[in-house]
Amino acid sequence: MSNHYDFLVLGGGSGGIAAAVRAQSYGARVAVVEDHRLGGTCVNVGCVPKKVMWYAASLAHMLDDAGDYGFDLERRGFDWGMLKQSRDDYVARLNGIYAKRLSDCGIADIRGTGRFLDARTVEVNGERLEADRVLIATGGSPSVPDLPGAELGITSDGFFELETCPRRVVMVGSGYIAVELGGMLRALGAEVTFLVRKSRLLREFDQMLSEQLTAAMQANGIQVIAETRVESVSPSAGGGLDVACHDGRSIDGCDVLLWAIGRQPRSDDLGLAAAGVASADDGAVPTDAFQNTNVEGIYAIGDVTGHHMLTPVAIAAGRRLSDRLFGGMADRKLDYTLIPTVIFSHPTIGTVGLTEAEARERYPDEVTIYRTQFNPMYHAFTRHKSKAAMKLITVGAEERIVGCHVFGLGADEMLQGFAVAIRMGATKRDFDDTVAIHPTNAEELVTMR
Ligand code: FAD
Ligand code: NDP
Repeated sequence: MSNHYDFLVLGGGSGGIAAAVRAQSYGARVAVVEDHRLGGTCVNVGCVPKKVMWYAASLAHMLDDAGDYGFDLERRGFDWGMLKQSRDDYVARLNGIYAKRLSDCGIADIRGTGRFLDARTVEVNGERLEADRVLIATGGSPSVPDLPGAELGITSDGFFELETCPRRVVMVGSGYIAVELGGMLRALGAEVTFLVRKSRLLREFDQMLSEQLTAAMQANGIQVIAETRVESVSPSAGGGLDVACHDGRSIDGCDVLLWAIGRQPRSDDLGLAAAGVASADDGAVPTDAFQNTNVEGIYAIGDVTGHHMLTPVAIAAGRRLSDRLFGGMADRKLDYTLIPTVIFSHPTIGTVGLTEAEARERYPDEVTIYRTQFNPMYHAFTRHKSKAAMKLITVGAEERIVGCHVFGLGADEMLQGFAVAIRMGATKRDFDDTVAIHPTNAEELVTMR
């Protein structure tokens, strides 16, 4: 009986812990199985240490601008090693806070790799655990391509192990991680070259965001090479790495090549077949809208489901699942539409809803676009300039807002409130009727004509 749980959670990351704590609050007997560090990707090798580095990079930009505001400062260097140590200590404290939370709640904190023996039995360290319900919340890991010398590169996991700022970095990829880490590395002193396999960075996002960020990155000294594919990586004669591309281009002697080409759901070591749980070719565990897998009593949330790989999404899906299973809320589920998201680039991007291209495809002849581009007041005084740009996408005669895309200083903190309004069905008129807050960048969103 002691090895029997109402709810067994595989993975002590963002989603798993949130689901476990919520289930326990309803009186369920819960265990969390974690084979690495509590907190998962977000706390250990994702959002948290990333945001620390983003703060450092933002400070570097502000220090560069400080002279234009009258400060007599000299930038003499940046102690990457010191910041890494503080960051690691902070993450270790968070690991401890998570462990304490589990123990305070009376949730069993089991360390080891969980593997299904059947649909109700999981083996961890040779011990059999049984459960009425099992949640798969095992997250994912960075993808590395299958090409000669790929293992010589690092991924975002390796970025957080760097003891010093590399001198020359080649960044391969064009999504969130590439632009975030590439921007930080540049601000903190590295020469950064992007190798993008298709036409542009952030291809999945509204084109305005992609164009604005590319221009800002180039103005910050980042080189962006599009339409090129890495063919091989090899040790360089003079030290470092040589990177060869399909078009004959090569970049020789870089210190670090960082693969930022997406993340793969982590399900290969779970023994899914023993439980009869279906998975896709890339390892993603598909679910219905209620997070049910194809096997009754087995659920999946978060990155392992292969979509909307964001911490608050994993948390929200986990909490709603526990509300449904243990809190008597039979219809409770996560609505995956209108999920706001921020890219911690320099400057930041905030975006929610449809891109212009998606809106025009979904609502032909019904779309009205409002856009603005301006120089933020902050940059009126700085030699280094960075624009802000915003776009509202509306549909129908009532001009309901279906997309909001913001590029520029403060976009990260701006978006949350606008996302609430858009979720509530805000129209352009509602934005127009809201009195502006002056002087801010955000006021432009309610004064667009
Ligand atoms: P995870 O947090 O990955 O947790 C899964 C856990 O399961 C892991 O701890 C793993 O060790 C464990 N596990 C796996 N298999 C087993 C097994 N068989 N047995 C036991 N344990 C197992 N999202 C944002 O919203 N904002 C951001 O700013 C942001 N920045 C990011 C930056 C980077 C560099 C990266 C890589 C990701 C970032 N993300 C961000 C994404 C976010 O980290 C993930 O979406 C989120 O962590 C997913 O939560 P999860 O619970 O699904 O999985
Ligand atoms: P993304 O999916 O965001 O972007 C990866 C991009 O790399 C692809 O869109 C693709 O763009 C390109 N790519 C794919 N394969 C290759 C290849 N073989 N060679 C070259 N380029 C390739 O993945 P990330 O790794 O950046 O991040 C993973 C996820 O983590 C994100 O999707 C996001 O959900 C989450 N995350 C969230 C953050 C946040 O909230 N701020 C920050 C970091 C991560 P194309 O097809 O145009 O070439």
